[in-house]
Amino acid sequence: MNCAMRSSSNRPGQDRQRPCPPRQPRCGFNWRPGSFVGLFEKLRTAQFFNPGSSASLVRGRGGGQPPAGTGAAPRRDAARLPGMSSSRLVTIDCDYLGPGFAAAYLRVEGDEAAFVETNTTHAVPRLLAALDREGIAREAVRWVIVTHVHLDHAGGASALLAALPNATVLAHPRAARHLVDPSKLVKSAEAVYGAARFAELYGTILPIDAARVRSLEDRESVLLGGATLSFVHTRGHANHHFIVLDPAREAVFTGDTFGLVYPHLQRGRRFAFPSTSPTDFDAEAAHASIEVVRTSGARRAALTHFGEIEDLDVVAAQLHRWIDLSASLVEAAVPLAPAEAEAMIRKALDKEMERAAEEVGLALDARDHELLELDLALNAQGLAYVASKRRG
Ligand SMILES: [Zn+2]
Repeated sequence: MNCAMRSSSNRPGQDRQRPCPPRQPRCGFNWRPGSFVGLFEKLRTAQFFNPGSSASLVRGRGGGQPPAGTGAAPRRDAARLPGMSSSRLVTIDCDYLGPGFAAAYLRVEGDEAAFVETNTTHAVPRLLAALDREGIAREAVRWVIVTHVHLDHAGGASALLAALPNATVLAHPRAARHLVDPSKLVKSAEAVYGAARFAELYGTILPIDAARVRSLEDRESVLLGGATLSFVHTRGHANHHFIVLDPAREAVFTGDTFGLVYPHLQRGRRFAFPSTSPTDFDAEAAHASIEVVRTSGARRAALTHFGEIEDLDVVAAQLHRWIDLSASLVEAAVPLAPAEAEAMIRKALDKEMERAAEEVGLALDARDHELLELDLALNAQGLAYVASKRRG
């Protein structure tokens, strides 16, 4: 997440490192307070929606039911190669912090392709290799979609764009400006990590020509080949977040809206938990956004962390429970001193993680705890931050 800076609560004792620029309290980039230098957010596929429910969500330009692969004229000068004619979705493991943490997706429809999520600049060779494997020309990539601007989602956008001559980045309006001018955000992150560590984590993030960045309003749609992709703004995890509805594949790309489902932790029954990392967590909005995904009509959710899932009801129920707990912890933390608040929240999250794991028959081992450490720490920080805002 993010730029954990607080524009209006620079109170002694609760302030960590807040190098974000004033007047941009939601820079949304994925840096952590100094105590997490060396740790960072771990990061995290897809065909017919129920006509009724998708109609309620897909209303933008080109919205409504997709043309089902018909009627879409080939666009631009996209090179039609063998293997480009089918509709498909490819999951790419970005190997961010190891395998199974962060995915990007390659979506192909007709003779056009799109990436959903870019991960970091270090993942770009993996994304381009996926194109090569699929026999898709770089010129055929029309869209690069980032669900939000946390660095494990959008950090690779500028490097990826440089390799894709016809691609336009699609982003939430609150995210787009940081893609066009990432200078303050990069500076902020470098102030936390140091330039060398930042480069190691994220590589070089360059400004993207504004002409190649398109902001999408809530429920707006674009075409990909013969398919329609529709965007729904979803607050709760980040204020600059949208999800992508893909009716032609009965899928929804959820970014961080539908929790974290790490493959390594699916050894019992389903095991999901949310990301409440700083700075934008909002329990009510998170509940609502989870329901937007669950009732979207999609049969599959493609999570950035990690992969396709089909049991949307099960995951949603687990997430709602976590969000309820998170909201109550924020409430309980308001009267506490900042350090005490974060410690109290962390302890409660640890306990709930054990309980939730046990409930689904998952025995957490040392490696699991190591895997969970960063998310638990970030989630506690995010909740403590919301409490600090309420404290005033
Ligand atoms: Zn995020």
